[in-house]
Amino acid sequence: MDNKAIIELTTKHVANTYGRFPIAIVKGKGCRVWDGDGKQYLDFTSGLAVCNLGHCHPNVVNAIKEQAEKLIHISNLYHIETQSELARLLTENSFADKVFFCNSGAEANEAAIKLARKYFSTKGENRYHIITMEKSFHGRTFAALAATGQKKFQAGFEPLLEKFTYVPFNDIEALRNAITEHTAAVMIEPIQGEGGVNVPSDDYLKQVKEICKEKGALLIFDEVQVGMGRTGALFGYENYGAAPDIMTLAKGLAGGVAIGAMLATDAVAQAFTPGTHASTFGGNPLATAAGTAALKTIINEGVLDNCRKSGAYLTDKLNGLKGKFAFLKEVRGKGLIIGMELADGIKGGDIVKECLNKGLLINCVGDKTLRFIPALVVTTQEIDEMTGILTAVLEGISCTSLR
Ligand SMILES: *Cc1c(COP(=O)(O)O)cnc(C)c1O
Repeated sequence: MDNKAIIELTTKHVANTYGRFPIAIVKGKGCRVWDGDGKQYLDFTSGLAVCNLGHCHPNVVNAIKEQAEKLIHISNLYHIETQSELARLLTENSFADKVFFCNSGAEANEAAIKLARKYFSTKGENRYHIITMEKSFHGRTFAALAATGQKKFQAGFEPLLEKFTYVPFNDIEALRNAITEHTAAVMIEPIQGEGGVNVPSDDYLKQVKEICKEKGALLIFDEVQVGMGRTGALFGYENYGAAPDIMTLAKGLAGGVAIGAMLATDAVAQAFTPGTHASTFGGNPLATAAGTAALKTIINEGVLDNCRKSGAYLTDKLNGLKGKFAFLKEVRGKGLIIGMELADGIKGGDIVKECLNKGLLINCVGDKTLRFIPALVVTTQEIDEMTGILTAVLEGISCTSLR
C-alpha cells in the first residue's frame, strides 16, 4: 500500500486519537525510515524514545525470531526463563532488587502508585497522597493521568483519581511545603520529556530524596523516557547521585517491542504478594527476550559511550544554530534527549512539518520546544545531515518572520 491507501484506511477505521502527519512509515533501519511512497527520512524521534538502538537492530531482531519459534506466550502461572533473565540484568545494573513486568509506561506507573499505597497500608500507616510535578507526563490511564500535572490531558475525564498534588519542577521549597504525614510518594521524571525537556539543577533530585527520607515518603522515578541509556547513563538518576525506592521503565526497554517494568527495593517490593497485582502479558517470553537482547546490547556494545559523545556533538551543533537564529532561545538536555526552545510566536509545528517535507523527522513538545531524541547509536555524519536540513528549514522561518 502507498501512503494514500494507508491514510484512507486509518481515517476510515482507526479511532481518531492522534494528530498524525500525512505519511505512513513502512520500513526502518538504524536512524532511517521509509514511507509508503518509498521516500526516505532521517529519524530523530526514534518512535518516541523507543528505538534506542535504531530501527530493527539485528540483536533484537534475532532474539525475537529465535524466541518466536520457541515460545511466544505462556502465563505467569509458570516461571518464564527470559523474564527472570531480564529481571536479573535490570537489578544487577540498578538500585533495585525486584522487577514487576507489564506492557507500557502508564501501566508501569499504575504499578508504582499501587505499590506505594500498598506499602503503607501493609505497614498500617495512613499514607496515600502522591505528589507529582507540574508539566509532568506519566501516561493516559486513570492513575497515571491523575499523576500527570497538565490540565490539557485531564480535561473531560473528571472526576480524576483523588489525592494527587502538583508542585513546580525543580522547586525544592514548593515540595517541602507540599509534603505531609499523609504523603505516600513523590513521583518525578529525572528529566521531564513531554513537558518540554526540562532538566533539573544538579542537586535537585538529591534534595528531593533527602526530603522524602526525612518525611518518610517513598521516591518514585518515572524513567519511562530517560531510562535505558537515553541520558548517556543506563538510568537517568545515575547523573544526579540519587537513587529512588521505585523506578518505572518502558519505552526503550525492549528495542521496540511493547513492554513496561516497575523496579523496587526489596523493602518496598515485599508489599506486593501473590494475587495483589498482575498482568496477563506482563513479562511474556517474546517481549522479555527482546528486552534482554536490547539491554545486553546497550551494556556491552559501547552504546552509552556513543550516546554521550553524539549528545555532546549534537548539543554543540544546536548551540551553533542558536547563535545564528535569534528566535532560538535555549538548548538543553542530557545525552541524547535534547530540547531547543523557540521564542514566542514561532510555530514549532511549522518547523516540524517543513523538516518532514525535507526528509527529517523531529517533534515538538510543550508547545514550543523542538525535541531531538535520535537512536543512541546515531553517528556524527547523521547529526551533520540533520543539522543541514534543520538549518535550511530555519532559514526559511527567519525569512518569513522578517517579512
Ligand atoms: C511516554 C511516557 C509515559 C507513558 O508511556 P505509555 O507507554 O505511552 O503508556 C509515562 N511516563 C513518561 C515519562 C513518558 O515519557
